[in-house]
Amino acid sequence: MDNQQIVKDNLDYTLFSWGKQGGLNPINVSHANGSYVYDRDGKKYLDFSSQLMNVNIGHGNQRITDAVAKQMQEVSFVYPGMATDVRGKLGKKIAEITPGNLTKTFFTLGGAEAIENAIKLVRMYTGRHKIITHYRAYHGATYGAITAGGDPRRFPVDSQAMPNVVHVENPYAYRCPWNSDSIEQCGERALAHLERVVKFENPNSVAAILFEGESGSSGCLKYPPMYLKRVRELCDKYGIMMIDDEVMSGFGRTGKMFGIDHHNVTPDIMCLAKGLTSGYLPLGGVVVTDKIAEHFNDNPMTIGLTYSAHSVLCAAALENIKVIEEENLVERAAEMGLYIEAEVEKLKAKHPSIGDFRNTGLLGCIELVKNRDTKEPTTPWNAKPNEMEATSRMATKIRELGMFTFVRWNWIFIAPPLNVTKEEVDEGLQIISQAIAIADEYVIP
Ligand code: PLP
Repeated sequence: MDNQQIVKDNLDYTLFSWGKQGGLNPINVSHANGSYVYDRDGKKYLDFSSQLMNVNIGHGNQRITDAVAKQMQEVSFVYPGMATDVRGKLGKKIAEITPGNLTKTFFTLGGAEAIENAIKLVRMYTGRHKIITHYRAYHGATYGAITAGGDPRRFPVDSQAMPNVVHVENPYAYRCPWNSDSIEQCGERALAHLERVVKFENPNSVAAILFEGESGSSGCLKYPPMYLKRVRELCDKYGIMMIDDEVMSGFGRTGKMFGIDHHNVTPDIMCLAKGLTSGYLPLGGVVVTDKIAEHFNDNPMTIGLTYSAHSVLCAAALENIKVIEEENLVERAAEMGLYIEAEVEKLKAKHPSIGDFRNTGLLGCIELVKNRDTKEPTTPWNAKPNEMEATSRMATKIRELGMFTFVRWNWIFIAPPLNVTKEEVDEGLQIISQAIAIADEYVIP
């Protein structure tokens, strides 16, 4: 089929995520390998965001293809009430790599479903109904999950939002809502604010505090040291469950197996997806502690999905985790993250529009401003289309120069596959530097 016809059929017969359908110009993918995606005209794009921050082991890994094909030959689908070898092995592996006494996993098909089911589980387990989450966070696009996320992607469905979600401000040190002098002070004030909200809401009505293991698409906002540890203490004080959303930050992305591993905290529930299979097939999971699991030995656990624990998806995940472990990708992400931090520091000297760079392992965002003192963003948060000039120009430039990554409002994301090479990072940062030269034009001295 000719190349134009492929794009035309995509546009004529399928709907694309998140936005207006008119005027779309998708990359016409032919194949992908390692850190690159190739289009049908032979142009290659350096994948500097691992697609949706999920292709952790890079593209085209033959081991996953082989594991999936083998599993399909044995058994593809049996209903979730049956036991399979691969399901048990994957469950056991997840219990081994997750912190503390997180032991049992309920498998879903993606991140939003993991969040939905985690919310149902904590409500059943605690008998309470409220869920506290951060404004600057994203937890998925189904009704419950989009309400739980606080960022503007929830606005279009606000009138039908899931009840009993309460949002709090993040400890966003670069723009701290409480006028603090340091990240630690911002953390203290955020914690005081969180506890006030818990008290105002009636602690006995709060089932869970839900947060991202490491903030992702809402701006890579780093938690102040001790923040999550103190959230854990707050949860223990009031009998609240701690739900850790590791959908984006899990499986080595941040230079530890999970984002929360940077904080030495064990949540009551962990939500997984994305890097669980590196996107080769769709799989998510809700991991619960022994204690929660035991509760459901005698109480009905009324959740279920036709495709829960699908054998082929489990096989992809199991092999993917083996690749992450055997190729030391967690350590590599940590190492490469430090290299990127040093290189972006050099870019800062060159580009006055770089206000801040927040990075943990290979989950990083450059924040662009018109002026470093006023911190006025090059594109405002939740900008309307007519305020997006700088963002659109940068995105176009990045694509022209042969790179794919996320440019959202005034943030550029740096989240390549965990096995990205130094040469690829250099190539990527060189392209990003050319895009940031556009943001520099908007700087007001
Ligand atoms: N949670 C976080 C932190 C995410 O970043 C995402 C997706 O980007 C989700 C949940 C939703 O996952 P999915 O798109 O697989 O439903």
